[in-house]
Amino acid sequence: MPTLISAPDKGFTTRAPGYWEGVTPEQWNDWTWQMKNRVTSLAQLEKHLVLTDEERAGVLLTRDKLAMAITPHFFNLVDPLNPDCPIRRQVIPRIEESWEDPDELTDPCGEDSHMPVPGLVHRYPDRVLFLVTDRCASYCRYCTRSRVVSGVGDQELHTEFEAAFRYLEEHTEVRDVLLSGGDALLLSDARLERLLARLRSIPHIEFLRIGSRVPIFLPQRITPALCAMLQKYHPLWMSVHANHPKELTVEVREALERLANHGIPLGNQSVLLRGVNDDVETYKSLVHKLLMCRVRPYYLYQCDLIQGSSHLRTSVARGLEIIEGLRGHTTGYAVPQFVIDAPGGGGKVPVNPEYLLQRTRSRTVVRNYEGRVFEYPEPGRKWDLGETSVTPGALEWSRARRW
Ligand SMILES: *Cc1c(COP(=O)(O)O)cnc(C)c1O
Repeated sequence: MPTLISAPDKGFTTRAPGYWEGVTPEQWNDWTWQMKNRVTSLAQLEKHLVLTDEERAGVLLTRDKLAMAITPHFFNLVDPLNPDCPIRRQVIPRIEESWEDPDELTDPCGEDSHMPVPGLVHRYPDRVLFLVTDRCASYCRYCTRSRVVSGVGDQELHTEFEAAFRYLEEHTEVRDVLLSGGDALLLSDARLERLLARLRSIPHIEFLRIGSRVPIFLPQRITPALCAMLQKYHPLWMSVHANHPKELTVEVREALERLANHGIPLGNQSVLLRGVNDDVETYKSLVHKLLMCRVRPYYLYQCDLIQGSSHLRTSVARGLEIIEGLRGHTTGYAVPQFVIDAPGGGGKVPVNPEYLLQRTRSRTVVRNYEGRVFEYPEPGRKWDLGETSVTPGALEWSRARRW
């Protein structure tokens, strides 16, 4: 074995077994034990935490909308006294989830209307989203698919697997299949392998990926056996979902390293959440820790207009501020693409701070991360022809800075 010279242990900690003091390491490290011992009731919460009235009412009121479930691993990260704890805000329901906002939608990204087969979302020309289960290890309170996820709401997910495979076989334009749900990594190794093998038997499918929060909620699931199985289906990529630096624990880092060591390129998709990660310093710490875990920040999502999410949503301006606070100031690999998943079903749309100030046929004027302005002359154009196209965003930016 080569000697591993690791990066500094910056901020990676563990609290295991924390609240679960009497369990053996074998139990703790067994993902099925973690699943069986999830925190799902008010009584369990109150045993360990000082709840606010908003949280207590939230737990009772959301029982028939989106279930509460928190793995012991993730629950240990909760601050028992502080209701504003960024971990707590993500997984413990609050009364605000029952608030109605006319802008909010049950299906905020318009997925149901883009399903040629139940469970298969085909929105983009060459790739599909395949919803393979409705269960997750823990439930995010801002879940974009809360209408079908967790098994307690009005709507149910009835994926038609055989019809989906037939659709994929017939649609030779599909070269990329994204497994999601729910969380595909909650399937047994055998079931997941059958699914991957079936997809790999379709010659035009080039690229497989799994979107999963299991490495964060349930790192015990990332066993050597799982990784050895996944490795047979390359190219297989994975997008994980971490929102706050506290989520990247020693156990999570080990799980991510194991995936990376099996050749699985890792990306992170995070959601911009009020009071969780909507400031530059917190977000920077998150992306730096992700790079140390060999995860490339992929997307930062503006929070979808999901029902009951008003207390977790923040402005688009805040997202732009975060991107602006990263680009140029830190490693380029650490900067995700900020996107709005267009309400109603337009897909992901990139939203960027304005760096392009003016573009004419003869020159392009840009500003850098420090606000300094530079001109790039177009090839072969020695004079300005007069046609200018100034982007509206640029005008706003230059007015704000009065340059
Ligand atoms: C996000 C998403 C994808 C994948 O999009 P990429 O930008 O390629 O990561 C595919 N289909 C649907 C319906 C999606 O929401």
